[in-house]
Amino acid sequence: MGAALALARRGHEVTLLEAFAAPRPLGSGLLLQPTGLKALSTLGLVDTIRAAGARIDRLDGRDLTGRKVLDVNYADWRKGGHGIGIHRAALFDALHQAMPAAGVTLITGARIIRIEDQRRPVLHDDLGRAHGPFDLAVVADGSASSLRKSVKPGSRARPYPWGAVWANAPDPGGLWNGALSQVYDRAEVMVGVLPVGRGPDTGERLVSLFWSLPVAEMGAFYAGDFDAWKARVRGIWPAITPLLESLTDPAVMARAVYRDVWVGRWNRDATLLIGDAAHGTSPQLGQGANLALVDAVELGERFSGTTTSVAVTAAAYEAGRRRHVMIYQFVSWAMTPLFQSHGGFWAGVRRWLFTPLSRAPGIRQLGAAILTGTARLGRWPDATRP
Ligand SMILES: Cc1cc2nc3c(=O)[nH]c(=O)nc-3n(C[C@H](O)[C@H](O)[C@H](O)COP(=O)(O)OP(=O)(O)OC[C@H]3O[C@@H](n4cnc5c(N)ncnc54)[C@H](O)[C@@H]3O)c2cc1C
Repeated sequence: MGAALALARRGHEVTLLEAFAAPRPLGSGLLLQPTGLKALSTLGLVDTIRAAGARIDRLDGRDLTGRKVLDVNYADWRKGGHGIGIHRAALFDALHQAMPAAGVTLITGARIIRIEDQRRPVLHDDLGRAHGPFDLAVVADGSASSLRKSVKPGSRARPYPWGAVWANAPDPGGLWNGALSQVYDRAEVMVGVLPVGRGPDTGERLVSLFWSLPVAEMGAFYAGDFDAWKARVRGIWPAITPLLESLTDPAVMARAVYRDVWVGRWNRDATLLIGDAAHGTSPQLGQGANLALVDAVELGERFSGTTTSVAVTAAAYEAGRRRHVMIYQFVSWAMTPLFQSHGGFWAGVRRWLFTPLSRAPGIRQLGAAILTGTARLGRWPDATRP
C-alpha cells in the first residue's frame, strides 16, 4: 500500500492486486523507527500515526537478575529522537484510507500465481483473470513470497528455527509507556512488552506482548496448558501479571515465523521485488516494516520524471536501497542467535562481549544509529532522510 501510494502520488496509474478478499491487518503491534516515520511523513500520514500510537524512547532488556543486557536510548541518536509503537491495524487503516484519494485502483481477492513476460508484465490470479500488461510490476508479497522464485530463480528464503507468539493486552494506566521492555533467560527465553497506543476497535490503551519460542514447539504451545505457561511467565517477570490476566486462551496469541531472504538483484527487467519479499529478516531489530516503508517512498521518488528504461531505473533504485538494507540484513542475522537460541554459548557471548561492548564510548552511538534504522552507507534522499 505504501508503494502504491508513493507511485500514485508521483502521477503513475497504479493497480494494487491483493490476495485477501477483504484487506485486513495481521498480527498485533510493531515499532516504527525514525526512518519509517519519515517515510510516513512524506506520504502525509505521520500525524494520523502519531495520534494513534505510543511514543517509545528507549529499549530496555534485562536478564532474570535485573541486570541490563540491552539499554539503548533514542536520545543517543539525536536529542528528541523516538520511535512509535503502533497497532498494526492503525498503520493498515492509515495506508488503506489514503488510497482512494491518491487514485489507486484496489482489486482484492486477486492472489497472483504467475507473472508472464517480465519486460511488460501481465499478472495472472488464481481465479484465471489476467491483469495488465503493466510498465512495472512491483512484487511486495512478503517474506513467504510465492512469486519471488519466478522473478529470481536463485533466491533463498530460509525459515528461522525460532519464532514468536504475540497478543495485545490492555494497559489502561499506561504503566508500560516509553520503552520496549524485554526480559531474557539466557537466549532461550525472551518475553517483551511494546506499548502500541490506542486499539482501533475500542480506543483503549494497549501493549503488545510477545513470547519467543522455537517453531518446532509452537504446536505444543497451542495444544498445551495455557495456565501453566502463564504461571511460568509470571515467575520470570512478575510485573507482567496484570497483562496476562486478559489472555484467556492460547488462540488469542498470533503465531509469527520469519525468514532470512537473499535474492541477489531485486529486479528482473520490469519486475521488481521490494519489502520482505526482497529482504525479509528476523524481527530482532524491529526494522522490517520500516525498511518496507522506506522502499516504498524511495520507489516513488526514483520513478518520478525519469527518462531511462524501467529496468535501468529499477536497478539504480535497488543499488540505492541496498546501502541501507544490507546493514540491517547483516546485523539482524548476526544478532538473532544472541536472543533466540538453545544452550549457553550465545547467551555467554551476549553477556561477556556484546553487552559490555555496547556500552563502550562510540559503540553506544553506533548502537543507537542501528536501532533507529538510520545507519546507511552514503547519503539519504531528502524524501526519506530521518
Ligand atoms: C513477530 C514479528 C514482529 C515484527 N515486529 C516488527 C517491528 O516491531 N517493526 C518493524 O518494522 N517490523 C516488524 N516486523 C516485520 C514486518 O511485519 C514486516 O517486515 C513487514 O510487514 C513487511 O511488509 P511487506 O509489505 O513487505 O510484506 P507483508 O506485510 O507480508 O505484506 C504482504 C502482502 O502481500 C499479500 N500477498 C501475499 N501473497 C500474495 C499474492 N500471491 N498475490 C497477491 N497478494 C499477495 C498479503 O496478503 C499481504 O497483504 C515484525 C515481523 C514479525 C513476524
